[in-house]
Parts: sequence; C-alpha cells; structure tokens
Amino acid sequence: MKAPKTNLLDWQKRYGTEEACNQALAQQRWPEGFRCPRCGHDHGYAITTRHSYECALCHYQASLTAGTLFHSTNLPLNKWFWAIYLIASDKGGISAMRFSKHIEVSWITASRMLCKIRIAMGHRDSLYRLHDLIEIGHHSGGKRGRGVESKTPVLVAVENRDKRAGFIAMRQVFVVTRETVAQFVQRHLPPNQLVRSDALASLAAIGKTQHHAARVTPADKAGEWLPWVHIAIGNLKAFLLGTYHGVSSYYLQEYLNEFCYRFNRREWEAELPLRLLSACLTHTQVKLKMV
Ligand SMILES: [Zn+2]
Repeated sequence: MKAPKTNLLDWQKRYGTEEACNQALAQQRWPEGFRCPRCGHDHGYAITTRHSYECALCHYQASLTAGTLFHSTNLPLNKWFWAIYLIASDKGGISAMRFSKHIEVSWITASRMLCKIRIAMGHRDSLYRLHDLIEIGHHSGGKRGRGVESKTPVLVAVENRDKRAGFIAMRQVFVVTRETVAQFVQRHLPPNQLVRSDALASLAAIGKTQHHAARVTPADKAGEWLPWVHIAIGNLKAFLLGTYHGVSSYYLQEYLNEFCYRFNRREWEAELPLRLLSACLTHTQVKLKMV
C-alpha cells in the first residue's frame, strides 16, 4: 500500500495530540463516521481519556480500542503513535530500553508494545507471497554463546533478482524437517516458482509444489549458489546482535518479523512510519504469550 513520506515534524503535526490519534483510529474503525453499536445513531462524542465514543442519543460508550492492536491499553494513544514512529524510523531497530525512555513507560510496557507492533509487522508481510527465482536456506538462530539446545533453526527464503534481492521471508522452526519445510513453502510461495536450495534431505519437500533445483553446497561455496540467503543471514545476525545484543529463541519470531518487514521496505524508508501505522491501525487484538 502506498503511503506518503513523513518525518519527525510532520508526524508531530499529524499526531501530536491525543485527539488527533483518537481520530485516526476512529476513522479506521468507523470509516463512514461513528455509528452507535447499540442504537445505530450516527452522532457521538469522543471521550479521549477513555479511548471511547459516547452515543449522543442513548449515551452508550463504545470503546475505540476494543478488538484492535491497542485493546485495553491504559496508555494514551499518543504514546502508541510515537512508538510506531520510533520503531519505523530507527534504521536498525530500537531496543526496549531506549524506547522506554523516549516515551516514558516502563521497560516491560515498552517490551510489550514492541512485541505487539512486531506481530502487526509479521501479519502485514504474511499477506504477500514470494515469486519467480527464490533461494531457500536455513540458519541456526537463538542466543549467542548458549548451548545447541537453545538454538532454533530459521528457514529463509529470498527472491533472487540477480544483482539485488527482492522480498524475503523467515520463519523459526523447532527442527528442519520435510513437514516444517513444506509448511514454510506453502505459507510464503505460490506453487510452481523456481526454487534453489542446497541438497539437504528435508529440503526435498520443496519439490512437491515448486520447480526445485538442489545442489550440494560446501560452506565456503554457499555464496555462489545461494548468494542472497547468505547475505540475508549475515544481515540478520548483525541486526540481532547489534541492536538487541542477541535474542532468546522464545521471542525470535517477532524479531524475524521486524527484520523481514524492514528488509522488504528498505527502499521506502521515509514512507515506513505511515505504512506501519496503517498496519497497526488495521490489526486486530493480539494476545501476548506469557513467559
Ligand atoms: Zn446509541
């Protein structure tokens, strides 16, 4: 979806007040204007402190945030909007600690907000499929310096556009098996694309639905047959270690969502905040896993 370019001052102008943020969400929820869910009346008043609209006729208070990504939030929407701006405009990703200081929330609140925004990023990317020549490979994810048991593999697919990479998809799996590979391919590729991979037995599952070319690739030659998988994994490692100093495998998928979301939109940097806002405003309620 196309979105205008923005910057800090423009964002401040657009969403600098709680009223403006409430209005943006209300416009998304009721594109034809407010309509009371109880009596159907079409006039209501915003109660910004409660994220709700009160019906002018029957005084029913309709929640603005119920069922959205901001479901039952106690924070002003303004903080959420700034969160979206910060995460979208920081090139390498923003840590929960730095982010918590910017918008004056606790670290745990910041972590939960980031987590929800990353889920919205993953959902937006899940609407697209990869096409044409695609490289598929895998990477051992997880935390640096831990034992093998904490490392979970990540399946990686990248569109090979010769001199550049196209779109990318990554998924954390418990083990690389025929089943997990088949699921990954089904989720991210339409049938009959041209897929390259190395000759691992579990990757043979790709051939069921795709034109599959497998080649035995020694580690030092991986860059020749699967150059973009190789580069993407290198970038992913830098992203995880640089910004987040390693990530536990429990949350890895959410970080992969963020990495892929950014990678897939790397040429639309100035549009990213408004694109991400649109993804968040249209997303439904998210229940976070409790650790
Ligand atoms: Zn009403």
